[in-house]
Amino acid sequence: MLKEECGIFGVWGCEKAAEMVFLGLFALQHRGQESAGIISARGRKFFSVKGAGLASEVFTSSNLKSLKGDMAIGHVRYSTSARTSRENIQPLSADFQNISIAVAHNGNIPRAKKRKEKLEKEGTVFSTGSDTEIIIKMLAREKGEWIHRLKRVGDELKGAFSLVMMLPGKLIAARDPFGFRPLCLGRKGDAFFVSSESCAFNLIGAEYIRDIKPGEILTIDRTGIKSLYMEKQVERQCIFELIYFSRPDSIVFSQSVYSARLEMGRELAREKKAEADLVMPVPDSANIQALGYSKESGVPLEFGFIRSHYVGRTFIEPQQRIRDFRTRIKHSPIKDVLKGKRVILIDDSIVRGTTSRKLVKLIREVGAKEISLFIASPPIKFPCFYGIDTPVRKHLLANRMNTDEIRKFLGVDDLYYLSLEGLLNSCRKTGYCLACFTGDYVL
Ligand code: SF4
Repeated sequence: MLKEECGIFGVWGCEKAAEMVFLGLFALQHRGQESAGIISARGRKFFSVKGAGLASEVFTSSNLKSLKGDMAIGHVRYSTSARTSRENIQPLSADFQNISIAVAHNGNIPRAKKRKEKLEKEGTVFSTGSDTEIIIKMLAREKGEWIHRLKRVGDELKGAFSLVMMLPGKLIAARDPFGFRPLCLGRKGDAFFVSSESCAFNLIGAEYIRDIKPGEILTIDRTGIKSLYMEKQVERQCIFELIYFSRPDSIVFSQSVYSARLEMGRELAREKKAEADLVMPVPDSANIQALGYSKESGVPLEFGFIRSHYVGRTFIEPQQRIRDFRTRIKHSPIKDVLKGKRVILIDDSIVRGTTSRKLVKLIREVGAKEISLFIASPPIKFPCFYGIDTPVRKHLLANRMNTDEIRKFLGVDDLYYLSLEGLLNSCRKTGYCLACFTGDYVL
């Protein structure tokens, strides 16, 4: 699978803000499982707890009590740009001209190494390997109001990022001008929340208000909410948020992830009909697409795999050895459902193909008569340079084989990918990045 980047969450004006952030991070855990951190603020004083592991492992009732104040930001991390070590765990904070700032960031900084070298030549000292520190140091170099500093830095970076930033009394949320990574605004009473995905608002009983717009820098403080915009660019929102990354109970890019996935399955059924006894998903990531396929085609939906919920999402593990092990223990086929049956297996995407091949083998072993594999997105032929940790081009299955070669490699009787047009019809809106399908890079 493609590898996720991170999840960010921020709270302004809420008693026990850190507890709300903890719940928010819990809901965003699927976006990163390597580390978690929260920094809270009471007046000018900041408090921090960070550690390796899941949010539920890092935070305890006692360390949450130490995170005082009515404002806080948090982060769950999958390492894309720097090795996993304590100093790289976000949010990062710095003291500067008598104030503290803290930043949690999701995405990547283009030409990060060169930017860092340039700053170092100018005398800037770095204490972490994180891209986030580059943003902090670039902000520190600028002059004037922080929101204007962030605009100038955002215009210069032109990256693929969303971030939340905290200053005494002020929460700032920003999305890059292309809008690659998601970020939305929520409210509960007088308190405001920002989150990578709206599913976190459901958990804390907050209301989803709207997406932060591409290029928007939104400030929340005692005077209310203000917005400033970076230089306008053509929108390139990551369509993989709708295909796979985001939770189906989220609203992302102003649309329901669940509805988009259901429609992907329906489109797939309209494009590719097949005689079969049952349709089944690769759980859980293709559950809704398989439901859509079943509804549209009339082929009954069954669950031929039981997924273990005691291992993380396969792709989030950074080492190949662990990933292989986890794939094998994650899915268990049900013989009673599959034996002697013509099966349509639905998956959301194929990256290297190693997991799909193993799953097909498992279905064969329990006696399925025929296996068709239908993918609810087009072939991934190109790597991502916008914060998603994809394999290099030559390791992408669809980059080195045509569809029939892939079919043979995976050991299926039939293989079909949803067309790009079908995918876009499912999302009912323009303004997406499709670079991993088309190779059309904007940066
Ligand atoms: S290249 Fe693919 S994964 Fe990367 S931002 Fe674009 S759509 Fe998303």
